Parts: sequence; structure tokens; C-alpha cells
Amino acid sequence: MQTATTLEVLRSAVDQLRAGGKRLALVPTMGALHEGHLTLVREARRHADAVAVSIFVNPKQFGPNEDLDAYPRRMAADCALLEAEGVELLWAPGVEEMYPAGFSTTVSVAGVSDGLCGAARPGHFDGVATVVLKLFNQVRPDVALFGEKDWQQLAVIRRMARDLDLVRPHVEAIVGVPTVRETDGLAMSSRNQYLSPAARAQAAALPQAMREAIAALAAGSAAAPTLAALEAHLLQAGFDSVDYAALADPLSLAPLDTLGDAPARLLVAARIGGTRLIDNMHVGPTGKPE
Ligand code: AMP
Repeated sequence: MQTATTLEVLRSAVDQLRAGGKRLALVPTMGALHEGHLTLVREARRHADAVAVSIFVNPKQFGPNEDLDAYPRRMAADCALLEAEGVELLWAPGVEEMYPAGFSTTVSVAGVSDGLCGAARPGHFDGVATVVLKLFNQVRPDVALFGEKDWQQLAVIRRMARDLDLVRPHVEAIVGVPTVRETDGLAMSSRNQYLSPAARAQAAALPQAMREAIAALAAGSAAAPTLAALEAHLLQAGFDSVDYAALADPLSLAPLDTLGDAPARLLVAARIGGTRLIDNMHVGPTGKPE
């Protein structure tokens, strides 16, 4: 695996990997890699001849009172995991390389960025869209993979890719990968390691409560009382607060009052022991959870 920390080294590494028309996949991450990230890497291999992974803890997507400084950084362990997966290229720029002095451009995707995590974390998706567009321009991948774990992020990136003509027509170049979960159902996340053993045990209530809500929706319950019951379940299970619990259209993320004939998405963000956890699940017309 070649590691690039400067744009100059990155560009020649990318040129080599793409030589002869070879396809290159990109998996953008913030590091502290777990099985969810590695699943993206394995999926990337199915779409391309070579795989590039970026590790960059992007300051622009953290709010002033968020966990930028505390966010886990584990470059040596991450490198070993990526080597073991046969990744060809690691792009690990420093903050000055990504945002040199005078940097002043922001990409903002209206609409899909506004509600849910966008409302709870102002500016977050501008930071995500800006860095992802830069990563696309830097690495020039044929395909990029993102986790459904961050459903709204995936929706923002898909919208940006369409709006800014980043993908060739009719080519599905932004690939979403289903959420990888722990055995008790909790979605894997680099932030799970902030949880105390007690909070970690309580956190399993999040996917459980979501599955119960999906069953209630399938049985004909309206969204408002079902989401209120979900919130109550989480607070009773030890969560400190619920940022949002929403039933939404999977693409536009517009809120839905009831489960109709079309697929929907249940999305939740809740805090436990000072850690903010997010999760989302498909809600089919049959109400069958993922
Ligand atoms: P992060 O390092 O948290 O920014 O995540 C990097 C990529 O991995 C994003 O596309 C995430 O959606 C994806 N990802 C994170 N956790 C999971 C998971 N449990 N299952 C699938 N993908 C994930």
C-alpha cells in the first residue's frame, strides 16, 4: 500500500493506478476503522481494479462544541487493517494540505441537508460536501462508496454528484453500502468507543426501539404516536435525549405522516452518556425492517 500525505505524491500514485484505463474506487473515511469501513473497502474491490481509502478527520464538519479534538485517531492500526485488505493507496492529508491558508470555498446542498442531522448540527453537511468534492477532485475515482449508516450524508452526496455533474449519466458511481451492526444490533461506529460499558449495553435499545416502531407502522400506526413511543422507549432505556426520530421519504428526506405503499426510512439521533448515536432503517410497505 502506498501512503500519500501530499497532493503531489497523491497525483502520481493516482496516475499510476489509473494507467491503462484501470478503474479506481474511493472509500472516504475519518479513520478509527472498524468492520463497517472494511466492508466498504471489500465492496469497493468488486467495483474497481484498485482501491484508494482516504483518512481525514475533517474539521469543517465538526461544530464548535463537538468532538473534533477527542475524535479517535489511530493511523498505525488503520494502516495495518488496510494493508491486510490489500488496499493500493491511502490518502492521509494533513489539515494544511486539505485547507491551505486562504481556503474560502464552501459547497452547500440545499434541501436535503436542512433537516434531521443538518438541523441538529448547523454547517455539518456543508463541511461534508466540501471535503467530499475535494476528495473526488483529488483522487478522481470511477466509483465512491459510502455507508447507509449515514443515510442523510449519502443523500447529500448523491444530490451534489447529480447537481454538479460528478457522475457520468446512467452510471451509478456513488454506491451505498448497508449498515454493518454489532451482534446486539447496534450500528458500528467509531464513536461507539466513547461509550462506558453500561452505556454501551443500554445503547442496544436504539435498534430494538426502531424495530418495534417499524412493526407498529406496519400494523397501521400513524408516524407521530409511533415516533413519540420510540422516543419514550429510548429515554426509559437510559438515553439522555433524542435529537430526532423521523419517518421520511428515503431520497428527499421529507417527513411522512404514515407508511404508505412506497418504501420509507426511519431515522433517529439520540444521546447517551455524552455520545450522539445515529441510526436509520428501511421501512418497506410490508414494514419489514432490514
Ligand atoms: P466515518 O469514518 O465515520 O466518516 O465513515 C466513513 C464511511 O464509512 C462513511 O461512508 C460511513 O457511512 C461508513 N460507515 C461508518 N459506519 C458504518 C457501518 N456501521 N456500516 C456501514 N458503513 C459504515
